[in-house]
Amino acid sequence: MFDTLSDRLTAALQTLTRKGKLSDADIDATAREIRIALLEADVALGVVKTFIARIKERAKGAEVSQALNPAQQVIKIVNEELVGILGGETRRLNLAKNPPTVIMLAGLQGAGKTTLAGKLALWLKKQGHAPMLVACDLQRPNAVTQLQVVGERAGVVTFAPEPGNGVGDPVDVARRAIAEAKHAQHDVVVVDTAGRLGVDEELMKQAADIRDAVQPDETLFVVDAMIGQDAVTTAEAFRDGVGFTGVVLTKLDGDARGGAALSVREVTGQPILFASNGEKLEDFDTFHPDRMASRILGMGDVLTLIEQAEQAFDQDQAEKAAEKLSSGQLTLEDFLEQMLAVRKMGPIGNLLGMLPGAGQMKDQLAQVDDKHLDKLQAIIRGMTPAERDNPKMINGSRRLRIANGSGVSVREVNDLVNRFFEARKMMAQMAGRFGF
Ligand code: GDP
Repeated sequence: MFDTLSDRLTAALQTLTRKGKLSDADIDATAREIRIALLEADVALGVVKTFIARIKERAKGAEVSQALNPAQQVIKIVNEELVGILGGETRRLNLAKNPPTVIMLAGLQGAGKTTLAGKLALWLKKQGHAPMLVACDLQRPNAVTQLQVVGERAGVVTFAPEPGNGVGDPVDVARRAIAEAKHAQHDVVVVDTAGRLGVDEELMKQAADIRDAVQPDETLFVVDAMIGQDAVTTAEAFRDGVGFTGVVLTKLDGDARGGAALSVREVTGQPILFASNGEKLEDFDTFHPDRMASRILGMGDVLTLIEQAEQAFDQDQAEKAAEKLSSGQLTLEDFLEQMLAVRKMGPIGNLLGMLPGAGQMKDQLAQVDDKHLDKLQAIIRGMTPAERDNPKMINGSRRLRIANGSGVSVREVNDLVNRFFEARKMMAQMAGRFGF
């Protein structure tokens, strides 16, 4: 899911990273690419239009950030807007003050309601609840048995009409189930309802009757993420016919384009609570808009890195360092300060791991070791302020003193000093070439 969309979005945003400064034309061109990517992923047109308009407005009006370059800023905006259309904050399940909490499932046949009932039951059980499933899908042959099977697998009780009585009345079953749940002290009741292959009036009426009978605390609209644009029309029909308080996306493991996920929340105004991504009962979890957005953007945790860079950035210090860098005046004191600033962002291996493409560099990353940096820090701290300011004065006897003081060998002190000189020379040359 989302692979094509991720590839296209990443490509659109990556062209920006090669530019130092962004013009309005650059932003327009990127917005166009993003628009095509979203439309191809089957996101509803109205949603695409609003999204693109917001990106353009915010990117063009963006304040110059000292911590982020323009490309990073646009990535940040796109990410924030993605989180926004996916619902913003993670929405948790509403539990009733007076149990049992009643959760009703609605949606088309094949959307994954029955499977979801089992997943939800297992999930609730793991959280310490005592759920009960209720079979109100009396239409589809085998639906009751199927629910009993998933209930058994989840290790929860299923309330079902006795077999052999012909097609029962789902409203009556629902009512009796709630009474039974109270009696047997189940604190959450999950009501599975019938679906049709398409939306029809009879289906809506039955779902509405069950709703009136059980007064659900949550009505969850279950939608197959693979049905693309149809998800939006179906969602609207259920919103108007039964009403729902939340959405569950199923089959996110499929290879479809994923537009449903991006459209449903925006079109219906109701949050996505859960996502299902497989046939097993464990393939299910709370839906987190922020995590989903970064998955769609396909940029590893580069977004976390952007956030941390903003937090760790110290304007004065950076300007001073840049000035010294270009004039070849960088001292070991500056070097230490820079190192501490970077390390404020977390263990260095983690930081590098967050960069896109880091997946293939795992072996090298494993060698970047915080202990090594600790050692460098200790060596620099073992120097006098004068030595840090003017590393040229660090002669043989000083090196021996520093080594003894910081518990390392003279060779390690030599290494650090020599590499510092080389780096300073290289940076001064680069600074000259790139004009900063
Ligand atoms: P219902 O008619 O809405 O009750 O749908 P079912 O629960 O019977 O599911 C229909 C089919 O979709 C079944 O074959 C399920 O195994 C499958 N299914 C449900 N959820 C998922 C999911 O998240 N991923 C995948 N790949 N299949 C799913």
